[in-house]
Amino acid sequence: MEMLDIAAKVHDEKRQGEAYAPFEKDLNAYQKKFYIESYGCQMNFSDSEIVASILNNEGFGATRNYEEADLVLLNTCSIREKAEQTVRKRLTEFRKIKEARPGMLVGVLGCMAERLKAKLLEEEKLVDLVVGPDAYRSLPGLIEEAETGQKAVNVLLSRDETYADISPVRLDSNGITAFISIMRGCNNMCSFCVVPFTRGRERSRDAHSIVAEAQDLYNRGFKEVTLLGQNVDSYYWTPDLAEPVTFAKLLEMVALVSPELRVRFSTSHPKDITEDVLRTMAKYENICKYIHLPVQSGNTRILQLMNRTYTREWYMAKVRQIREILPGCGISSDVITGFCTETEEEHQDTLSIMEFSEYDMSYMFFYSERPGTLAARRYKDDIPESIKKRRLQEIVELQGRLSLESNKRDIGKTFKVLIEGESKRSEKDWMGRNTHNKVVVFNKGNHNYSKGDYVIVKVNDCTQATLLGEIIN
Ligand code: SAM
Ligand code: SF4
Repeated sequence: MEMLDIAAKVHDEKRQGEAYAPFEKDLNAYQKKFYIESYGCQMNFSDSEIVASILNNEGFGATRNYEEADLVLLNTCSIREKAEQTVRKRLTEFRKIKEARPGMLVGVLGCMAERLKAKLLEEEKLVDLVVGPDAYRSLPGLIEEAETGQKAVNVLLSRDETYADISPVRLDSNGITAFISIMRGCNNMCSFCVVPFTRGRERSRDAHSIVAEAQDLYNRGFKEVTLLGQNVDSYYWTPDLAEPVTFAKLLEMVALVSPELRVRFSTSHPKDITEDVLRTMAKYENICKYIHLPVQSGNTRILQLMNRTYTREWYMAKVRQIREILPGCGISSDVITGFCTETEEEHQDTLSIMEFSEYDMSYMFFYSERPGTLAARRYKDDIPESIKKRRLQEIVELQGRLSLESNKRDIGKTFKVLIEGESKRSEKDWMGRNTHNKVVVFNKGNHNYSKGDYVIVKVNDCTQATLLGEIIN
């Protein structure tokens, strides 16, 4: 249990189950209210903004209080068993409210809806709606159906749905940073992963609609966009009669919106990130020098079983190439411990590749078998949970040291920091990020800066998670 808590802390779980704040418009203007809670990856949080936009057009306003909602939605995650258990527990909490307000509709959206389909209705009696990630346009019709007392399900996956024309409602936003979904689905079939089954085939969104969304955000005062996809480097959009747009080209198009608009992206698959992408990052100051490059394991045999399609040496060469083209670039990772048949020596290979890569940060997990995946069908989940967790504990401790060492190397350096808001600890301090995605906290001093401004900060201290500094004129 203790180790699980450590993992949860390292895997930024702060936003899990977060409910969105009401729209700025007067709530009284809406006849009905919806409440949406999101779990899992950024894609889900971004999808909830699309759902909010669709519901908003139907006359629904958002509320943060589910007790007053006519429609309660959970946008769910299936990536690990624990993620599904969290949602199940949450559903039981809604039971009482539903008993008191039988008219209230409860819907499950996202990956769990897709994985369990109509079975969810049998297993969770209070659920009225089950809607998969490609079926959000049908929500208004499904709600109408559910209002008549029927159960409503749409879990059809699509080959071309990208919601390109739907302008997401930025819920609970700081007004400075925003996510833009650039593609959906995944074709990779990593053997441990349920995503290709729950989110379907990979498809890329119209590049012009992405640039238009970035431009609109910039016009409204946003200063940073993160381009989102399960595997952004395989972005490939082919317009009629024109050159295909690769991820490198898309990055450039978004970077050109304004030098004042920072561009980030997530997630990169090591096999797909090209030299072209790295050179484009080097060319534009406003493309942040930070790459999330999940390794999963440092051992070639395990990587093969995982179907990651690269070897230990190949991954290390990729890290070297990044360091060569982008000196000082921030690199982070995802790591899984205790995958099927993993030996102690193979686990040591994961520890040593982490040391080699000098990750600034990692999301770390122990392997959780997911029904229907290649690994569940082909291999035995044979590492006892106690060993998986002990190995996890070891990588968590190592990452703690690597993060601290990385931050210590920054003491004495100056960085351009985008102010995202006040520090949570003190209203006298600002909190922002540097290009390497490190959180920087510094005193406001007598300067007249505001949220959304860029400032130059000199780092003079640090913790494992934060750089501490002062504004330099
Ligand atoms: N598409 C991204 C990628 O390829 O890195 C992110 C996929 S997933 C949403 C995020 C992370 O969850 C993965 O990188 C992996 O480390 C972890 N993960 C996925 N399936 C898992 C499983 N069955 N057990 C434990 N961790 C898992
Ligand atoms: Fe899952 Fe692999 Fe696709 Fe990432 S790249 S979503 S880990 S199948």
